[in-house]
Amino acid sequence: MRIVSVSVGDVLEMKKPHPCGSNRLKVLRVGSDLRVVCEGCGRDMTVPREKLERSIKKVHPGDAGRVSGTNGN
Ligand SMILES: [Zn+2]
Repeated sequence: MRIVSVSVGDVLEMKKPHPCGSNRLKVLRVGSDLRVVCEGCGRDMTVPREKLERSIKKVHPGDAGRVSGTNGN
């Protein structure tokens, strides 16, 4: 089981790039769905959390930083 902790402001590096060529998505809102915006083309989308988490390659913590270290690495 893989635990991914995503917070608002984090940048997600995806396994598959968006059609625009960028594979980085910035998190705007978290909940049962995640609202993210593509850093390449600025398009925002709402994706079911479970689905999105499966395609995350790496999480880059945002400016706010991490309040609770749920997951190291
Ligand atoms: Zn894009």
